[in-house]
Amino acid sequence: MAVLGLASTGRAVCRFLLREGATVLGLDQKDTLLMQEIVKPLVEAGVTVRLGPHRSEDFRGVDVLVLSPGVSISHPTIKEVSNRIPVWSEIELAYRHLKAPIIGVTGTNGKSTTTVLIGKILEAAGKRVFTGGNLGTPLIEAVGGSWDWIVCEISSFQLEAIREFRPKIGVFLNITDDHLDRHKDFNEYFDAKKRLFEHQRSEDFAVINLDDPLLADWARALSASLIGTSRLRSTSPGAFLRGDELVYGDTRVEESYPLAEANLKGVHNIENMLASIAAARLAFCPPDAIRSVLKTFQPLPHRMEWVGAVKGVDFYDDSKATNVGAVIRAIESMTPTTGEMPREGRSPERLTRKTVLILGGLDKGGDFGLIASQSDRIRHAVLIGQARQRLEEALRGRVETSPAGSMGEAVRSAWKSAEEGDAVLLSPACASFDMFKSYKDRGEQFCEAVRKLAAEVSASGREGSQARKTGSKPSDGGTAKSPKGVYEARMH
Ligand code: ADP
Repeated sequence: MAVLGLASTGRAVCRFLLREGATVLGLDQKDTLLMQEIVKPLVEAGVTVRLGPHRSEDFRGVDVLVLSPGVSISHPTIKEVSNRIPVWSEIELAYRHLKAPIIGVTGTNGKSTTTVLIGKILEAAGKRVFTGGNLGTPLIEAVGGSWDWIVCEISSFQLEAIREFRPKIGVFLNITDDHLDRHKDFNEYFDAKKRLFEHQRSEDFAVINLDDPLLADWARALSASLIGTSRLRSTSPGAFLRGDELVYGDTRVEESYPLAEANLKGVHNIENMLASIAAARLAFCPPDAIRSVLKTFQPLPHRMEWVGAVKGVDFYDDSKATNVGAVIRAIESMTPTTGEMPREGRSPERLTRKTVLILGGLDKGGDFGLIASQSDRIRHAVLIGQARQRLEEALRGRVETSPAGSMGEAVRSAWKSAEEGDAVLLSPACASFDMFKSYKDRGEQFCEAVRKLAAEVSASGREGSQARKTGSKPSDGGTAKSPKGVYEARMH
């Protein structure tokens, strides 16, 4: 067997195949000193490793080619090889060796949050759960464990090369533009995601966000039983938002989970919680386990995390928002006082809090114009990185922008543009690799820059109002953190 791509997932696959007694060939395009060092343990364990450009002849004698998620199936050599030998993604290989039922979570945004949330609920219900996949531990590492359930985050790339992969419960959270640097177009990206449900049968379940017209339309033709989720209307069987309650039910039962008790905030997290409740109930978790986890579940790092406040301006780290869909949800979530969706009939004063955005990075090809549709909520946007010019063009005339050359400069400039009670939101709509090592590095540099700013403001002893534009406190009071001193920091 051959394994293409020797990053952490690919190496885990090699180790698994060796344990299974296979003859293993490991390949990777990268032929750097670091890579040679990384693959040494594989070579010592008995893997034949070839580094450098892929060549068709490397695959002679190979019976199955396993792709790690970083490798595109549309690479010309792989396309050519796939005419001769089966090409599987790592999740396909794992699936063929796993016995426990799988909950697979896909969508453009919210996969990690929802996967971890479902995993925690299942654990609280006393089940032996493996939680992993595209986040953290690769699915192949689940093989051989004694699990009652497997909860697995699944990306479009992993779905490109499945043949039989069939989750007992598939979850589709949402679909908006992303990864258009790797997928040919939106349809190719959407088609890859749909494949999660391709092999399901009538005894399986498809948990689908019906608020998205594209998903609602497509879901009607699914083979699995459809379990809808919606923030906007009741749906049965399914999970939906009714007033301040998350409701799950079908024709026989109806149970509710108070939104006020949930620790996760933000419009998007309502959708993630609805999907998680549905999946957990389908996996036979009792409502008490769900309630207790919803009360305590902490947002994952760099997903709309409150970092602290400097003179009444809140700073949020949403560095994981690498596409426009995530940014829109984050902007919407900044404005209301609680985690609920700003719905029709909301009081107009709720819109008094505005957001200063820090946007930009490595362009993945999204439609930045959609951000401008939120212009009534945006006070200013500070633009960083390679996508700066395209962002500036998309926002021109609708959102005031200014450029910044570093994260420190961006944070300072955002704070100066903010009025008391506003939020400064790092939600870049782009990948991070032009200026940072990763989204984590970008988020950490943001937090560091906020701390520095707080120290400077504190040392200067100036009133915030002298250093930046002045503004009245928002009339809804509760939205803005009352500035107890210069800086309040998060507790964790
Ligand atoms: P993923 O694993 O799909 O990237 P994450 O849970 O890591 O999802 O969140 C990634 C980004 O998307 C974060 O900025 C987060 O705030 C945002 N997000 C999370 N859930 C949703 C959702 N349901 N809809 C839109 N954006 C979301």
